[in-house]
Amino acid sequence: MQYSNFNSIYRPISKLGFGLMRLPKKEENSETIDRDEAFRLIDLAMKSGVNYYDTAYFYHGGDSEQFVKEALSRYPRESFCLATKLPSGVIKDKEKNTEEIFNGQLQKCGVDYFDFYLLHAVSEDNMWVFEEDNSYEYLTKQKEAGKIRHLGFSYHGNLEFFLKLIDKYKWDFVQLQINYYDWENQNAKAYYEALEERNIPCIVMEPVRGGSLHTLNDEARRVFEELGDASAASYALRYVAQMPNVLVTLSGMSTYEQVEDNLKTFEECKPLSDSEKEAIEKANVLFRKNFAVPCTDCKYCVEACPAGINIPACFKAYNEYNKTREQADFLKHYELINEEQRASNCLDCKACVEKCPQRIDIPKQLRRVSGIAE
Ligand code: SF4
Ligand code: SF4
Repeated sequence: MQYSNFNSIYRPISKLGFGLMRLPKKEENSETIDRDEAFRLIDLAMKSGVNYYDTAYFYHGGDSEQFVKEALSRYPRESFCLATKLPSGVIKDKEKNTEEIFNGQLQKCGVDYFDFYLLHAVSEDNMWVFEEDNSYEYLTKQKEAGKIRHLGFSYHGNLEFFLKLIDKYKWDFVQLQINYYDWENQNAKAYYEALEERNIPCIVMEPVRGGSLHTLNDEARRVFEELGDASAASYALRYVAQMPNVLVTLSGMSTYEQVEDNLKTFEECKPLSDSEKEAIEKANVLFRKNFAVPCTDCKYCVEACPAGINIPACFKAYNEYNKTREQADFLKHYELINEEQRASNCLDCKACVEKCPQRIDIPKQLRRVSGIAE
């Protein structure tokens, strides 16, 4: 395993981090973690030197933090770094304030400090919630008390607000969505460079864009196959991990094979050669042609939906359809979704729209999905 050493970060961090939002599940369309299989994944990662584990209040419907306690309490506390996040929605709805959430998270995760703590999915639309609750001030006090080692935020908003935010407070790190698809397409480059200029370490989320840069489409996949037998995901991971200001690259690993493949990638994590860079550019162009809905399967929208639509599963089926335009490819995925969770049940209430970090017009896209299903 390769490690990052940043002066401002208290210890070496494995360049591969384990994102705990896509753990193996008992059933495809449920959030119940398959404990036995998930333990196997964590044990392999721990044994192989992965020391960064990233959870959040909402992951797996709240079960991910509980799972952290069960899985990581079997190891000495100093052998892993734990990151979790403060949700704005719970504060906005006046269910709990920052202090109640934070103390609950320590207890749920079974730890007495967090190595990394983040305001979750910050944007120009929700930062006011944290400011009104004095979250930054409260968390800074927790840092002084030793309950947080590093304080930062994950971001999904516009660049103008981002630039103001990184200068308004002192941040130890920032977590950004960076991958070769978003580098130009969503201007991830500008956000990364702003951090680099200020010497703020960057943690990368969605380096494989929810798995879509691994599955790609046939044409794009062939570009990598011609280079050898390394997986498409390995190129996407190396693309971001080699950036000098990247502290850790998170991967939401769901299978034992994915963990093995990622470990292989990070054994050396060699810089990309010129021919590999060219292949990435080529694959990106081919992939973009029929990547219809840029959903990362983060599931932030799902909790907000009063109709219980399985939004990411609908978009997965739609994206599969767009690769071939064959209804059979669509139905293969769509028919796995319970009937009451399918696109046609959307009420067009738009409650999901503000939850989506990718700014997808969810009801509009669901109408398209529904159209294919008919
Ligand atoms: S617009 Fe449709 S998908 Fe979105 S929250 Fe409302 S019912 Fe659910
Ligand atoms: S539609 Fe948006 S919020 Fe929902 S899973 Fe996809 S990316 Fe996440």
